[in-house]
Amino acid sequence: MRKMRRAILVLAVLLLASCSREESTEVSFSIVAADFPSYDAARAVMGGTDGITMLLPPGTESHSYDPTPRDMVLLSECDLVVYTGGPSDEWVRTILSSLDDPPASFALTDQVELLAEEHREGMEEEEDHGHDVHSIDEHVWTSPANEIRIIESLAETISSLDPERGKGCMENAEAYISRIEAVDARIRGIVENAERHTLIFASRFPLLYFVREYGLDYYAAFPGCAEETEPSARTVAFLIDKARELDVPCILMIELSSPMIARVIAEEVGCEVRVFNTMHNATAADFRSGRDYVDMMEENADVLMEALN
Ligand SMILES: [Zn+2]
Repeated sequence: MRKMRRAILVLAVLLLASCSREESTEVSFSIVAADFPSYDAARAVMGGTDGITMLLPPGTESHSYDPTPRDMVLLSECDLVVYTGGPSDEWVRTILSSLDDPPASFALTDQVELLAEEHREGMEEEEDHGHDVHSIDEHVWTSPANEIRIIESLAETISSLDPERGKGCMENAEAYISRIEAVDARIRGIVENAERHTLIFASRFPLLYFVREYGLDYYAAFPGCAEETEPSARTVAFLIDKARELDVPCILMIELSSPMIARVIAEEVGCEVRVFNTMHNATAADFRSGRDYVDMMEENADVLMEALN
């Protein structure tokens, strides 16, 4: 008898659990974002963070991220997965293709015209570890024009999956797009009136979409998001020569990279070091405060203003 009572209790708990799960999926639309650019786009379109989970922990390097078992569960249970769609989050595709009933998915790289990773004069040669040096450049979000297309398209995707949210999502997207357009116009103005049009990065260079959009030239130590090792003396010497020749006011580097080389070059040339935020991730503090793509791009515009004049 006691056994039977326990069995009934277990059954009741299971039923309750399944009921509440049903209810929760009814009232909310859940999005899993693999990284920060995906999270930022989802937050902008949804008009807040409710129901959105970012898998990449804030403040960490996105290229070396390994998904956890919890990530796999979250991915399998959500309504929509948003991810970059490049080499750095290939694991998302792998998990999705292993699921019998995968959720809807949205890759940023599917929304815009893609560029191949570029190897510019003076860059460190990549060691061939079977890596395709002409692989696609996945950093599509670094161009505000691309970001606008991504936001538009994500709003349409969410609206079609959850029509009741459609109107709200479209309005949120429009509001965000007008902020992106404002920073885009500001950057165009800076470039138009700039004294010089070349940027020197003493780091990796995931900004090909950005410089192409604004007609800027660049030199960098490493292409795309190549695994950054110590650059050779030849690369450092090349960047020092270019910095002198162009008389640049600052040497740039991207966030979360070692400032050593930038400092060496800047000291040699007698100029400043500035950080250009490529928004692969947000710091823990920025993530908590809700600092978004446009806030970060505004700060990049300040850096650009200094670097080009
Ligand atoms: Zn990258």
